[in-house]
Amino acid sequence: MFRPLLTLTGGLIAALAVTAAQAKPLTQEDLSVAEVLRDRALESSDAYSIVESLTVEVGPRPAGSEGDRRAVAWAQEKMKALGFDRVYTEQIEVPRWNRGHAHARVVAPFPQPLVVTSLGYSVGTPEGGVSAEIVEFADVEALMKAPARKVKGKIAFINKRMERARTGEGYGPAVGGRSKGMRAAAEKGAAALLIRSVGTDSDRFAHTGMMSIDGVENPVPALALSAPDANLLEAMLKRGKPVEVKLDVHNQRLEDGPSFNVIGEITGREKPEEVMIIGAHLDSWDEGTGALDDGAGVAIVMETARLIAELPQRPRRTLRVVLYGAEEIGLVGAKQYVDAHRSELDNIVAVSESDFGAGKIWRFDTRLPESKFAIADQIMQLLAPLGIERGNNKSSGGPDSSVFVAQGVPAFGLYQDGSDYFDYHHTPNDTLDKVDPKILQQNVAAWVVMSFLTVEMEGDLGRVPTEH
Ligand SMILES: [Zn+2]
Repeated sequence: MFRPLLTLTGGLIAALAVTAAQAKPLTQEDLSVAEVLRDRALESSDAYSIVESLTVEVGPRPAGSEGDRRAVAWAQEKMKALGFDRVYTEQIEVPRWNRGHAHARVVAPFPQPLVVTSLGYSVGTPEGGVSAEIVEFADVEALMKAPARKVKGKIAFINKRMERARTGEGYGPAVGGRSKGMRAAAEKGAAALLIRSVGTDSDRFAHTGMMSIDGVENPVPALALSAPDANLLEAMLKRGKPVEVKLDVHNQRLEDGPSFNVIGEITGREKPEEVMIIGAHLDSWDEGTGALDDGAGVAIVMETARLIAELPQRPRRTLRVVLYGAEEIGLVGAKQYVDAHRSELDNIVAVSESDFGAGKIWRFDTRLPESKFAIADQIMQLLAPLGIERGNNKSSGGPDSSVFVAQGVPAFGLYQDGSDYFDYHHTPNDTLDKVDPKILQQNVAAWVVMSFLTVEMEGDLGRVPTEH
């Protein structure tokens, strides 16, 4: 009578022990080391000098440009100097483009100049420029719905304002005009596309950025207006008379060429083939020095790896820093990385990217199977003192990481305060003075906790079911 009961009790105890182990997958020792790393990051991490070096010694680095080539060399040298075990590059193919001039002015009824910039990969105007009447649309959807006769031969003007938000959530609803506007304008026979800049500032400069160009048969010039110039045009249109604008744009599309993902590793001591990828993108737009987008991210993930490399022993798994090429023009580096490493995706335990400027981290998002939430809770214990709250389980891990997430790779997202990010994003004003060294230390502190615990933990993070 007693034996089966004892066995049953023993089984229950074993089951309870397993549940307990699952509930607290990270050991006290792992957490203690992560805490030391966190506090060291807060006191002495120096991501700032890395982004300073990138912006001063390289500067603008559009995909496939001379600046990009120098950035790739810079990144390899810097990783070696920071003590990475292995540094290498993987070549990618990128479309290339050179910005020329972009001038715009109102010809009638109230002649005056306008401040514009070409959207990425825009064609130029014919020699001598193009003059046409403006036709205004509230957003890209309105342009897409408009009959062609309303648009043909005119300059389509998408006048959509972007809302400011800490999460940057105003970007999604506003960016369609930039990404899809030129295609819609070209299909309806417009002479050109003008958009209100996708940004939250009121400065007199325009925001560039990528648009969809593949398969557009007769592309037309596509330009962004600064916010004050969009206001000006809006006010003229309200007066009810036709507004005519002249554009003179020169850009140059070049042949496809090489760029590179730059990769550096801290090699795992027990399971070197199992990898956490932390990333940022190395390319930038051409008009600023890419300090916020994404020099800060590059610096944060490199400094995170450096701190882990300074520990007396290597972590259990490999920490791989991937600096993606050609993110700005369509996640080119990330897509080619995933294609080239498809058979190894099961060994990528998690992925995360820093690509939202240099603001304070305030939220910790995840994308984990439910059975692994306890790990996130334990990581949270060390993040909370940094002023970070627990977010949702829908993280994309960042733009480049989202390509991995689509394949079921678990992801973490350390969400920065992006309240002013879109004041500077893709403008000449994306420069180093916007980066605060102290805030970067808070970022690195959070990154080093998350990264170290992921590469050191006993168990793994499983796979996340993908949506179909
Ligand atoms: Zn970016």
